[in-house]
Amino acid sequence: MHSEGTAQLPPVAPGIFTTGQEGEGSSLLGGACPACDRDFFPRPSRCPLCLGAIDEKNLGSTGKLYTFTVVRVKPSWGLPCPYGVGYVDLDGSGLRVLGLLDPESLDRLEIGLPLRLAVGEMGVDLRGNPCLRPFFQPAEEGAHE
Ligand SMILES: [Zn+2]
Repeated sequence: MHSEGTAQLPPVAPGIFTTGQEGEGSSLLGGACPACDRDFFPRPSRCPLCLGAIDEKNLGSTGKLYTFTVVRVKPSWGLPCPYGVGYVDLDGSGLRVLGLLDPESLDRLEIGLPLRLAVGEMGVDLRGNPCLRPFFQPAEEGAHE
């Protein structure tokens, strides 16, 4: 399904998220070491613990906001101003990842807020072209899209 214009845009980086269909079902892609039973994000080329091979692992799309900040200085990469960034404790893997937060929801952010991953056009890539970025939004908003 490529009916949406943003679906044609490239990801900001390859292999870090899936877009699902029509913006639903987006999830983070990381890595897992079967020998160490540990998950990683982003996916390393080798396990930093045992140097073994890393499998791709879908890390899901939900978590809780551990902490956050709102950045009000002029951002890089064409990000909206202001924009939010926070640490999110992912459900399942227990990984704590640094991620962008939905610029439309900055006034609703609070520690412990349930979040869901979304993917949309935000900013530009290294070459200055519009691109898709993953970001977290309040979980109940994702259900309405
Ligand atoms: Zn390992």
